[in-house]
Amino acid sequence: MILTPHAIVGAAVANLVPNEPVLGFVFAFLSHYVLDMIPHKDYDINSFMDKKTRTVVSIFKSSAAALKLIFIIFEAIGALILCFLIFVRDEKSAAITLIGIIGAWLPDFFQLLYYSFKKQPFIFFQRLHDKIGHDIEDKKYIWLGISIQVFISIFVLVVYFIIKK
Ligand SMILES: [Zn+2]
Repeated sequence: MILTPHAIVGAAVANLVPNEPVLGFVFAFLSHYVLDMIPHKDYDINSFMDKKTRTVVSIFKSSAAALKLIFIIFEAIGALILCFLIFVRDEKSAAITLIGIIGAWLPDFFQLLYYSFKKQPFIFFQRLHDKIGHDIEDKKYIWLGISIQVFISIFVLVVYFIIKK
């Protein structure tokens, strides 16, 4: 999935166990793979890679890649702001929220490391990601793939606030 649903679910999971930040981090990390099992539309990362070697190339070589990276950075900032508005009440919840978001985003950062270095343990995590991931590649279903992520995000938030009450 894209960054926002991962951030929301990671932050929610970590905030459910606010006194166990390590556990919250691990749960948030695992939540990434659980979310990716649900069919969704993901970023097409091919423009970041060399076609032959499938390793990351400089984004300055293609304007499409640079634009996409800017979009992803904006999404990340938006996700951070959204999560802070939803989950943060004080310093502690700010730290927990951040821990949850980092945990939830880590598997995608591992993908970047895999495509950069092709070394363990990132080969392992990439295989896991590829095996579990359920990206809808057909462009016909792009809106369905996005709607699912909006729905899941709202659903998780509703459940979160019911449990938290
Ligand atoms: Zn993923």
